[in-house]
Amino acid sequence: MKVLKFGGTSVGSASRIKEVAHLVCNGEKNIVVLSAMSGTTNNLVEIANHLYKNDRDGANSVINALEQKYFKEIDALYSTNEYKEKGKELIEYHFNHIRSYTVDMFTAFEEKAILAQGELISTAMFQYHLAETGKNSVLLNALDFMRIDKQNEPDMPYIKENCGSVFKQNSGYDIYVVQGYICRNAFGEIDNLQRGGSDYTASLIGAALGVDEIQIWTDIDGMHNNDPRFVENTRSIAKLSFDEAAELAYFGAKILHPTSVLPAKLANIPVRLLNTMKPDAVGTLISHFQEKHRIEAVAAKDNITAIKIKSGRMLLAHGFLRKVFEIFESYKTPIDMVTTSEVGVSVTIDDNRHLSDIVEDLKKFGTVEIDANQVIICVVGDLVAENVGYASKILNSLKGIPVRMISYGGSNHNVSLLVNEKYKKEALNSLSKHLF
Ligand code: ADP
Ligand code: ASP
Ligand code: MG
Repeated sequence: MKVLKFGGTSVGSASRIKEVAHLVCNGEKNIVVLSAMSGTTNNLVEIANHLYKNDRDGANSVINALEQKYFKEIDALYSTNEYKEKGKELIEYHFNHIRSYTVDMFTAFEEKAILAQGELISTAMFQYHLAETGKNSVLLNALDFMRIDKQNEPDMPYIKENCGSVFKQNSGYDIYVVQGYICRNAFGEIDNLQRGGSDYTASLIGAALGVDEIQIWTDIDGMHNNDPRFVENTRSIAKLSFDEAAELAYFGAKILHPTSVLPAKLANIPVRLLNTMKPDAVGTLISHFQEKHRIEAVAAKDNITAIKIKSGRMLLAHGFLRKVFEIFESYKTPIDMVTTSEVGVSVTIDDNRHLSDIVEDLKKFGTVEIDANQVIICVVGDLVAENVGYASKILNSLKGIPVRMISYGGSNHNVSLLVNEKYKKEALNSLSKHLF
C-alpha cells in the first residue's frame, strides 16, 4: 500500500481532479491524501479575518464568490444529474456551515473550523467522482484519527492506534480518500497541521500504517537544486537523503512542509516527489541513501531576526549559554542558527511574537542588538570536512554580499549563511552559478 498526496494545484479544477483519479486508480491499493483546491485555504483565511474584524459583508462577499466557483467545478466534474445534484448539495452544506459562524465571539476555535472546510470539500468531491465512475473507494475522516498533543506535536501513539483501526474497519477498498492538513487537538477541537500541512498528514499516515512508499504529487518535477521562484534554470535532484531533504524543507524549500520528512525517516519509508502535470518525470526519491561528495541544493528561509548579545565579562563563564538559551525556551521560541565569539553570541529566530520580552530578559547579560529582515541561505549536500574546498567555494560565491552569520559543523550536510533579505535573490543566483 502507498500514500499518494496531491496538493492544491493538483486538485485545482474539475479537469485536474479527473487526472488525479486516473493516476490513483492504477490497480494498486492506495491511500489518497488531498489538499483543498488551490486558493481555497487563502480565501477561508480571508473570511475568518473579516469575521474577526466584525465585517460580515466582507466575509459574505468572499463566501459567495468562492461558492459560485465551486458550483462551476461541480458542474464540470460530474456527468450524471444524480451526481451534479449530490455535488450541489455538498457545496451548499459546507458553505451554509461557513455562513453559520457569526461575528460575535469569533475566536481561533471558529477560525480553525472554517479553515478545515477546504479539505473536507475537496475530498468529498473527489470521492463522489470515484463513486460516479464506479471505483471501489471510500472517504475517511482525518478528524477520526489525526490528533496533535498539548505541545501541538502529532500524537503519534494515538494516530497509530486510531488510524490502524479505521483502516481495519474499512478493509476491502482499493482507494482510501482522506483530508490532508486537518486534525483535532488535545481538547478534541478541530485544528490543523499549519499551512502546507497536507504533506505532514501523508507522512504521518504513512508512518502509522508502515506503507511501502509516500508520494507527494505537486506542480513541479521534484526537489530542485535551488528555489525556482527566484532562480532560473534550476534542475530536479534525482535522489536525496532524509537528512538533506529535511534541512531543505526546514530552510525554505516550499515543496515540502518543514517537518514532513521526519516521520518517514523514523519509519524508514521512502518519499517520492512527483509532478501531477508530468507523471512520467522521475522526480526525487528521498531515502537513507546519501550521495557522496556533492553539494545538492540551496534554499532560503525568510523573516529571520538576528539577535546579538555582547558581554565580554560573562561569555566564557560556564553556564552563560545555558542561561541565554533558557530565556528563549521560556518564551517557547526556537533558535535556528547560533554563532559565538569570545565577546558575544548571535542567534536567529523566525518567531518574533515574544521578541521584546526576550530582549528585555537578555539585557541582564549585556548589550543586545537586533537585525530584522534577514534570510537564512542554506546549502545542503555531503559537506563533511574531508571534502576540502566546499566551504571556500560557498564563500567565494557570495563575494560582494555582506554575510551577517555563518554556521557550519552542526551537521555534515548543511552550511547556513545569514544575509539581509535585499540580497536574497542575488545570493541564491550567485550560489547556483558557482556551485552547480
Ligand atoms: P502543493 O500545493 O502541491 O503542496 P506547494 O506550492 O506547496 O505545492 O509546493 C510546490 C512549489 O514549491 C513549487 O511550485 C515551487 O515553486 C516551490 N519550491 C520552492 N523551492 C523549491 C525547490 N527547491 N524545489 C522544488 N520546488 C520548490
Ligand atoms: N490547504 C492547506 C494550505 O493551503 C494545506 C495544504 O495545502 O497542504 O495550507
Ligand atoms: Mg505544499
